[in-house]
Amino acid sequence: MVEETTRPCPSCDGVMRRGVQEETVTFQGESLTYQQPGWHCENGDDGVLEGSDNDYADAALHEVMARAKHSPISPLTRSH
Ligand SMILES: [Zn+2]
Repeated sequence: MVEETTRPCPSCDGVMRRGVQEETVTFQGESLTYQQPGWHCENGDDGVLEGSDNDYADAALHEVMARAKHSPISPLTRSH
């Protein structure tokens, strides 16, 4: 990825950059770590998702919910 676009952070005076960052979602004791594309603030926790970035977040959330219910729905999950 060679995008160098930046934008001001809406939460602080920092600079946001496009990139991929490891994110972890948890649901009822299950957790899933995945690579989340989006805008990430250089100062830490702030992040903005736009467009297809949300597809990753949605997929991760659905996945971890399915794991909590013991009914995996995505090929991300290995069968036991
Ligand atoms: Zn910020």
